Amino acid sequence: MSNTDLIQRFYFAGQPFRGAIVKLQNSFIEALNGHNYPSSINALLGESLTASVLMGIHLKHNARLSLQARGDGPIKLLMAEAVMQQAADTNEEVTQHKVRAVARLSEETPPGIESDSQALQHLLGRGQLAITIEPEEGERYQGIVGADQENLSQCLEAYFNQSEQLPTLFQLATSDTAAAGILLQRMPHNDNYQAGDNTLNSNDIWEELIALTGTLTDRELLEVPVEKLLFNLFHEHQVKLSPPDTIQFECSCSYQRTGAALMQISPLEIESILEADQEIVMDCEFCSARYRFNRKDIDNLGQQSNETRH
Ligand SMILES: [Zn+2]
Repeated sequence: MSNTDLIQRFYFAGQPFRGAIVKLQNSFIEALNGHNYPSSINALLGESLTASVLMGIHLKHNARLSLQARGDGPIKLLMAEAVMQQAADTNEEVTQHKVRAVARLSEETPPGIESDSQALQHLLGRGQLAITIEPEEGERYQGIVGADQENLSQCLEAYFNQSEQLPTLFQLATSDTAAAGILLQRMPHNDNYQAGDNTLNSNDIWEELIALTGTLTDRELLEVPVEKLLFNLFHEHQVKLSPPDTIQFECSCSYQRTGAALMQISPLEIESILEADQEIVMDCEFCSARYRFNRKDIDNLGQQSNETRH
């Protein structure tokens, strides 16, 4: 298996901790393809894509997880999405993660935004992050946290520690061509470790794991292969690995979905565009796919949406 575009989950034998490492390369490059964002925005998109996969660590079934940032700074909206799907045609439990991302920038981008590293607040202004989980079966869940820390990792740590009561460590790193991240999390229910001594022991080990992970440099996170990275960090602990899952760039847009979105626009507006241009052209914000609708297409869409309504 390739050493990039994957998520590697890991556990600690007999301890209530879980973790995952995500490495993105092709999926990251393809998600940015054709957008030409400033490099600081590319970096934040890479972090967001990585985080959107990492945050699904506890999900066992098909689900869509998105991370959305809104603000009044140079970035108006940033969204990264990971869709987890169990591969249907194999006996093995292989899960695929399909990722995509987009940023909407304000008209005036202030000077200095081109540089690689920018504090989150410089990019977003006053903003907030929304984490949304939509399982294929079951209820949609959304959590909100202020984007008021120095970087995305710290905001997400605050979200898990405060809103979810799950002590969590995030470390995210990007380069021009890759993004990577590690998550370490204390699991919520820990029935085996309620006895006093063991709880203490678990606390000590948790502190130690946090300290060990803190020694990791961005460069190591980006460049060292996953298994070697885990060995380097935790060789004194019994780390167990699950089979890694693959990650790829894939946009979920389609002619049908774009047409459905078009039907939300007022008929008057549609009519005036058709009179001027004879067709309506819609580009997907995520992948730049172009969808064209002439009068006949729009009549068909109108009929279809009437039929589904009745
Ligand atoms: Zn698309």
